[in-house]
Amino acid sequence: MIIFKKSKASHNKTNYYISLINYTRYLCIVGSHDGFDGKYLDEVFIAPLTAKNANKVRKIFPWLNPKPLSMNTSFGFGDRLGYATCGHISAIEKTSIYPVFAQQSVRENQRTGRTPQQVIDDAMWQVFQSGYHGVWGADADHIKEKEDFAPFIKAGFTFYTIDPSDYVNNFVNQYSISELISFVNDQSFINEYLSLDIPLDLDITEKKVLMAKVKYGKAIEYAKEMSLYLQQNLSHFDLEISVDETALATTPFEHFFIVRELRKNNVPFVSVAPRFVGSFEKGVDYIGDLKEFSSHLKKHVRVMDYIGGYKLSIHTGSDKFSIYDELSLRANNKIHVKTAGTSYLEALKVIAKVDKEFFAEIYDFCQKQYMTDKVTYHVSAQLSKLPKVDDYIELFSNFDARQVLHVTFGSVLDKYKDRFNKVLLTNMDLYNSYLKEHFTKHLLPFIKK
Ligand SMILES: [Zn+2]
Repeated sequence: MIIFKKSKASHNKTNYYISLINYTRYLCIVGSHDGFDGKYLDEVFIAPLTAKNANKVRKIFPWLNPKPLSMNTSFGFGDRLGYATCGHISAIEKTSIYPVFAQQSVRENQRTGRTPQQVIDDAMWQVFQSGYHGVWGADADHIKEKEDFAPFIKAGFTFYTIDPSDYVNNFVNQYSISELISFVNDQSFINEYLSLDIPLDLDITEKKVLMAKVKYGKAIEYAKEMSLYLQQNLSHFDLEISVDETALATTPFEHFFIVRELRKNNVPFVSVAPRFVGSFEKGVDYIGDLKEFSSHLKKHVRVMDYIGGYKLSIHTGSDKFSIYDELSLRANNKIHVKTAGTSYLEALKVIAKVDKEFFAEIYDFCQKQYMTDKVTYHVSAQLSKLPKVDDYIELFSNFDARQVLHVTFGSVLDKYKDRFNKVLLTNMDLYNSYLKEHFTKHLLPFIKK
């Protein structure tokens, strides 16, 4: 039996800690175990990490419950497998950045076969195991339908990312002025914008207002409807509005228009994810002109500072090392960064290190699956560009290999989940150290100097 010493906690003369017995983690209880499922092993009551026991223990120790983060600099860690939170904690625990440990979208849950409750519970047990008593959040990412809220609310998620992008009109460039006018048909709305006296150099014209209204009007209405639903069902939560998964970059005026309309409609958002210029692809650095990004970002930050009270959110934010300094500097840390599958890549790296034969089989399978699995992702890797390597670890610094390995996670887990998890569980120290190294690199630029 291995006891995770940092997990030790007591309440009402009862001691609790997490231990590992035969590669399975248990909650150990010495004292009263009323309401917990489990059995005795010698003197100790061992409780399996079930949903029922999770629910019981989070009522005893308040730090096991996620909370809204509001305006602090924050960082979202996705964890598709449910084993990465300890590594995330070791990277973030001595910083002033607020973490979101549970962060999954409906789509990701479909691919990994996990429920919102499992996602929260997996993060929570590792918060317990690591002895982390700080604030942490849980993000129901890219919620598109009202029906999707319920299981996340029930599970205790505290951060909701509403994605109204299905209601964004991406054809706005194709309409004539008279068509735009006929769609909007509200001169007083246009005049309201034309008469604004604001120091933002947005060069507001009738055409810009019309285009913004046609492009985002329905999306804003939908975001309002979705946020009302949340307000009726939850008293405290962080709300993000994301329009990052749209075809065209969000202009600074459109950003201004979106946040102003959201405020007018009493949508209580704390972060907004615009679609930035350049390309944010999975698992690789920023693709685009850094100077252009910098000047685009400056304008967005001016809008954010003028309106105030929210952060800029960077989606698909993992591995964007060439823009982190710029983001941190320009946005004065009013930033939320989301990373998704990069912890999964670090898990694959563990397999590449300790079980080469298994990794070779997975890698071969990924190449077969790539063309099918990449369809719903924003990636540009080509199978013909995959490098020949002597050591599989080299693949993890290669653009094409990273993306091929990244987007095939659902298929890989479908086929290899048990074997995959076993290798990971027997090599948790290595996994944690890979995660710590990888995320320390991400976090350093955002730590206030
Ligand atoms: Zn996104």
